Amino acid sequence: MKPNTVTIRDREIEVCSHGECMGPRVWDYATCWKHLKDGERSAVRGRLSDALRKGQGLARIVLSGADLSEFDFSGADLSNAHLDHCKLRKARFVEANLRYSYLGWADLEGADLTRAELHGCVFTNSNLKHVTLMGYSLSYGRIPVNLRSDLFGAGGPFSRPQIDESDPHTAEASYRALKRYFIAEADIDSASWASYCEKVMQRKCLWDKRSLRWVVSVFMAMCCGYGEKPLRVIASAASVVLAFGVIYKFLQCVAVGNIPLGWLQSIYFSFATISGFSFPDVVPLPNSFVRLLIASEAFLGILLLGLFVFTLTKRFVAR
Ligand SMILES: [Zn+2]
Repeated sequence: MKPNTVTIRDREIEVCSHGECMGPRVWDYATCWKHLKDGERSAVRGRLSDALRKGQGLARIVLSGADLSEFDFSGADLSNAHLDHCKLRKARFVEANLRYSYLGWADLEGADLTRAELHGCVFTNSNLKHVTLMGYSLSYGRIPVNLRSDLFGAGGPFSRPQIDESDPHTAEASYRALKRYFIAEADIDSASWASYCEKVMQRKCLWDKRSLRWVVSVFMAMCCGYGEKPLRVIASAASVVLAFGVIYKFLQCVAVGNIPLGWLQSIYFSFATISGFSFPDVVPLPNSFVRLLIASEAFLGILLLGLFVFTLTKRFVAR
């Protein structure tokens, strides 16, 4: 005998009447979403719209697995609702009440959660790529559950998970709220991601304002990824070594016994300088500009070392 109810997230839900199916019953139907008849399935949207228009609350509604892409839930009371495994691409939840609702495994790509109440809303393994959050959604102690940076899309070498960034000002506020959330959750990797995205949004705002601080922001992004990307410090150091090597070779200004260094030797000399070595047999030709050049490379080396330690610490330890 199959049981009458199934327990999902501490809630007993009647099971689908179809055969041995143990799926949860959808709304007031007798079966799960998969076993609804085609007519019933297509009627769900209309019935939902009617209910919303009449102001009926949808609290505790079970819609597990439903395809409700682009559906407009704005202002709806969906507290304690089960929306897990739903297709909700580009759905609108503006000002919706999603308190303690279950959105695990739901596909919310591009959904609009502006000012939605997300307290206790569960996002386990849902897809939140390009979602519109607005800072408000996560502020005022409205704490969602099981958020992680990778829910916002996959990060590759040239891409990062992201929310809707069409308005950098609101996206910045959302990322800041996310950062606060992740720090409170002690999720260092996700906090680092949110912090980095927040700075990227700041840079876009600075560009819009034609502010000079944009240049500083670009510089910080390149040399250390705003203190979140230690590899960028190493890449910067490598670029400095190469650039100075080329300059030494080009100016023919460093020599061993009056013979200027070749390409490889120049780069090696540059590498040694940035690392703080010195070679008594390699001498700069008597020219104060060249001495200044070598000294500045050594100084850059110290700065980059400091930056590297700072970035490593910030990224992996200090939050
Ligand atoms: Zn079923």
